Amino acid sequence: APDGDFYGQLDRLTPEQREVRAQVRTFMTDQVRPIMNVYWNRDEFPQQLIPELRKLDLVRRVWNEDGTRKPDATLVEGLITLEACRVDVSTAVFFGVHAGLAFASIALGGSEEQKAEWLPKMLDLEAVGAFGLTEPEGGSQVSQGMRTTCRRDGDSWVLNGEKYWIGNSPFSDFTVVWARDEDTNEVRGFIVRAGTAGYRVEKIEGKTALRIVENGHVFLEDCRVPEADRLQATRGWRTTAEVLRLTRAGVAWQGVGCALGAYELALGYAQTREQFGKRIGEFQLIQNHLVHMLGNVTSMLALVLRLSDMADAGEMGDEHASLAKVVTAARCRETVALARETFGGNGILLQNGVAKHFADTEAIYSYEGTNEINTLVVGRAITGFSAFV
Ligand code: FAD
Repeated sequence: APDGDFYGQLDRLTPEQREVRAQVRTFMTDQVRPIMNVYWNRDEFPQQLIPELRKLDLVRRVWNEDGTRKPDATLVEGLITLEACRVDVSTAVFFGVHAGLAFASIALGGSEEQKAEWLPKMLDLEAVGAFGLTEPEGGSQVSQGMRTTCRRDGDSWVLNGEKYWIGNSPFSDFTVVWARDEDTNEVRGFIVRAGTAGYRVEKIEGKTALRIVENGHVFLEDCRVPEADRLQATRGWRTTAEVLRLTRAGVAWQGVGCALGAYELALGYAQTREQFGKRIGEFQLIQNHLVHMLGNVTSMLALVLRLSDMADAGEMGDEHASLAKVVTAARCRETVALARETFGGNGILLQNGVAKHFADTEAIYSYEGTNEINTLVVGRAITGFSAFV
């Protein structure tokens, strides 16, 4: 099949699901591909994409206005992610942080009033969200070693601490900040609005992956947040973990999309680049690269399709999402390296495309639970022994 779906696994899609996929593909081809290298070099997110994305109304394909999910939400999110990452992983991350992590925090942890205030604006991309969990001192250990604190003071809370790596935060309208209660030790979530006194974001400069999405270092210095902006329906860390579980399937899809895009670039190059009077695709060793990549992409796709069906049926546990994340990130890393290699020296030039996939894979490999931590989540599930808590 010309689009890398060798077994026709996506033939099962409904007309509505096909339409979402086609819309994202057109958007990525027409709006993102022509400008992405410029913004990669600038280390900047193209703000003009937000009104264009708004027209596609993609968040509504996943969520209802009341914060419940569509019956095929995980699959649809997966298809959006697949088509975005095929061209540019950063675009998928911008969307995933807003429509996944930030939206889910309010949908799962917000009161009816909070959902009514924020979700319609988020569905319309009128308010862009960020999700602040990781801290400078710890990503993997954050459930146990969270240093950001909150303290009740009358009708408000006082937040102190730092958050690191927070996607979209340099320009988001608010960041969901997770903090530990100084009195009860319970983890609480807050909607911290941009412009709040004591809340400051410094953009993280100099990333070598995902340069088109902006990440921030968030400082909370006696930051006062009204009780009304504390997420009212959270149940401590359990809610944070639920949000992460919901979005982990999406990260597994990122690996598939990134690998698929790299494979397609490599196939195209192998069919046109000539050496020794032949197209390089005529050489057995190059065919071996391509078949290895295709095998990876095909098996990864089978895995995430099944994972999404489990998630949408309410049958997915942490360990299922973690196994898919571990396997797809590792196979993606292998695939983009083979694709890069197929381009020879030209593979390290931004203009040839594959270098960006190669770089972005490193972020996929380490965020939303590193390879090690997700491995240990699966290890705990199959042995009954926790090696990390
Ligand atoms: P560490 O936790 O310091 O880990 C370092 C190494 O030690 C890793 O290899 C890890 O696997 C290993 N390790 C740690 N503990 C163990 C153990 N018990 N056993 C074995 N190995 C172990 N966070 C947010 O909250 N919001 C965001 O929007 C966000 N966006 C991100 C975007 C990017 C581009 C990146 C890179 C990160 C983002 N993150 C975000 C943070 C991300 O989730 C963390 O980077 C991730 O959880 C890993 O934490 P760490 O980087 O602090 O690594």
